[in-house]
Amino acid sequence: MTPYQTTNYFLEQGFEILKLDPRYKTLLVTPSRELRVELVIENDDGSIGNYIGYRVQHDNSRGPFKGGLRYHPEVDIDEVRSLASLMTWKTALIGVPYGGAKGGIQVDPYKLSQRELERLTRRFTDQIAEFIGPETDIPAPDMNTNGRVMSWIFDQYSRRYGFNPGVVTGKPVDLHGSLGREAATGRGCLFAIREVLNAAGKNVSGSTFVVQGFGNVGSFFCRLAHEVGAKITAVSDVRGGIQNTNGLDIPKLVEHVQKTGSVVEFPGSEPISNADLLTAPCDVLVPAALGHVLTSDNASKVNAKYILEAANGPCTAEADDIFNQRGIVCIPDIFANAGGVTVSYFEWVQNTQHLKWTEDEVNRRLEEHMVSAHKALAKAMASYGDCSMRAAAFALAIQRVKEATDMRGLG
Ligand code: GLU
Repeated sequence: MTPYQTTNYFLEQGFEILKLDPRYKTLLVTPSRELRVELVIENDDGSIGNYIGYRVQHDNSRGPFKGGLRYHPEVDIDEVRSLASLMTWKTALIGVPYGGAKGGIQVDPYKLSQRELERLTRRFTDQIAEFIGPETDIPAPDMNTNGRVMSWIFDQYSRRYGFNPGVVTGKPVDLHGSLGREAATGRGCLFAIREVLNAAGKNVSGSTFVVQGFGNVGSFFCRLAHEVGAKITAVSDVRGGIQNTNGLDIPKLVEHVQKTGSVVEFPGSEPISNADLLTAPCDVLVPAALGHVLTSDNASKVNAKYILEAANGPCTAEADDIFNQRGIVCIPDIFANAGGVTVSYFEWVQNTQHLKWTEDEVNRRLEEHMVSAHKALAKAMASYGDCSMRAAAFALAIQRVKEATDMRGLG
């Protein structure tokens, strides 16, 4: 199954729980708009580069389209469609007044200079400018994009339409960004697993974690989880993995990564392959990198009690079925990593009101959103009967989007 088919497979489980009239399925599955743009830029050496960019706007019945932009060589329309749909369900589940969208450029950003990346981003902004805006569609960072990329989009958009920081979120704190946004996805993941573990009479403190990915989400998650007593026994990034069954010293690891650019060769750790990392024994496995890393090939070997989906779409449909059969609890991406878009919402609120909240205020409100989403999810699971947390999350989100669609009418 492709990523989009996988997302629809999960949606179907939600439709079944709700016994939804089939006419809603087409309505809720079909994206509202798909943009595909050619991005021709001049490289630093005078040659011409040509890239393809996408923006898929899935649903806006609950509010403006919202979702990140990723720069990756494997970005394609199917993946963007899947990720845009996931945003619709994520924003509904976490209770922020947005719909769902996603975009990306098929490019390896590490092969471009900063100037080339800037030209590419500005060209992309020009190509989609008519279709985005603070009340229409609000991009944000995702894989390989960051505050710097958001600043270029904000600037390019504002040249055309005037000063408008609310057109993107995830901006640098000194350029109308929000305190706490950078750490928000990792922090939200920690609140999610804390709530799930506590409901089962367990604790983050003393639980063992294995984390795939040490980018924005993985590294903040490790730092914050370590601070509250989690034992992180293995971590990986694109260059390789490391483990120490007694627990890694995360603050020292962060220093090592700042110095060397990777987790590999961290003193006091042993190397571990990516395949072995995903099947290493732990309480909680945290995929925090690419999609579709847990598949029918490795799902039966996973040696964890919980899977915390910090990445978007890390499990294939087949892997998800295997985890359900094996009683491994998947905490679905649309809940687990919703902290990012939640603080994006806070940033947008601050931008539109010209306010600046303190970091404590942001974190407190983020915690409130995650805790109340977990409560609603637990209640839904109890009322839906025997179903996975993912199926319940989709059903709950579908219900909310359906209600908004019904109230607005089909026109
Ligand atoms: N890219 C993040 C996600 O997948 C954040 C999106 C946003 O803040 O709009 O949830």
